[in-house]
Amino acid sequence: MTSTDPITNLATLIRCPSVTPAEGGALSALEELLKPLGFTVERVVAKDTGTPDIENLYARLGSDGPHLMFAGHTDVVPVGDEAAWTHPPFSATIAGGEMYGRGAVDMKGGIACFVAAVARHIEKYGAPKGSISFLITGDEEGPAINGTVKLLQWAAAKGERWDACLVGEPTNPDALGDMIKIGRRGSLSGRITVHGVQGHAAYPHLADNPVRGILQLTEALMDPPFDSGTESFQPSNLEVTTIDVGNPAVNVIPAKASASFNIRFNDTWTAESLMAEIIARLDRAAASDKLRPDRAPVSYDIVWNERPSHVFLTRNNALIDSLSGAVEAVVGRQPKLSTTGGTSDARFIKDYCPVVEFGLVGQTMHMVDERVAVADLETLTGIYETFIARWFGHAAA
Ligand SMILES: [Zn+2]
Repeated sequence: MTSTDPITNLATLIRCPSVTPAEGGALSALEELLKPLGFTVERVVAKDTGTPDIENLYARLGSDGPHLMFAGHTDVVPVGDEAAWTHPPFSATIAGGEMYGRGAVDMKGGIACFVAAVARHIEKYGAPKGSISFLITGDEEGPAINGTVKLLQWAAAKGERWDACLVGEPTNPDALGDMIKIGRRGSLSGRITVHGVQGHAAYPHLADNPVRGILQLTEALMDPPFDSGTESFQPSNLEVTTIDVGNPAVNVIPAKASASFNIRFNDTWTAESLMAEIIARLDRAAASDKLRPDRAPVSYDIVWNERPSHVFLTRNNALIDSLSGAVEAVVGRQPKLSTTGGTSDARFIKDYCPVVEFGLVGQTMHMVDERVAVADLETLTGIYETFIARWFGHAAA
């Protein structure tokens, strides 16, 4: 069976209902596409306490360097209200020039196109002048514990080394060729609790209202701005996501108040330096008596409630230029090099090799009627094919 056609490849993958954590046949289907191209395919099951076992796939073609990795995931988010879909979510129906299905853009479409691009590369040039591998997880949309992190560790432990990675997540806001991601902001979350003394609202001198304290502290988190952005990143931004007192009585001063926050930060900071800055702000605000005249400092504690995602920026020109040049050669315009948006598995891969991200248009991802323009599949395959040829140094590409 030939895998040079991204449309057929994608239809095959969409018809596998691989909602996280189910493999759904998607990795087996991918294995069937890769083996005839000469890939050695390994299936790796990752386990951890409290999370479902997850199937992952690692496939490599070639044994020499340079080594190019394509990374992605075959798992998909739930379909939501199936009756609301114009065409069944695992049918891969083509209508009006678009293929419908959960995962069409996020990101079975990217995988389908990269497989087709590799197949075409082999048809044109023979085996690659180095190695190409696929690192595909079934746990990107879930807790992401038994996915890319463990697969990378497993592969590195058996000696795998990579020179560059392309992640095939949907990166384009409106049209194919808009945007390559060359880095991602970091993400850090925490929850602060202010401890007061409960009492009667008419006798505030006998109580200590924690609402006054939580307002002082949250204001200090939001103002002044953490930075004004950097050459490659937008300004860091903190959002207070909830303030909780839970007090239904108007005549009672509550005993405590809590607030949660999330900050998306740029390369001005590391997670550690940012935590230190936040603590310094909170301590200063706690010492202020702006809303609490003649009171001792605000009594508070803080819990960092998430493993932070670290910020990163890729500076590998060979990788960025081959991809950016390939986009321009195929669609006729230069993609923006961006660091916007949420986190992705690239944050784990960057510890092993330079990584960039480029895939389909993301507009319908995670929505009812997720779908991809059939023409985009052909265009993305052309971009990937040109990228592969350029990265391996085929001058004519
Ligand atoms: Zn995705």
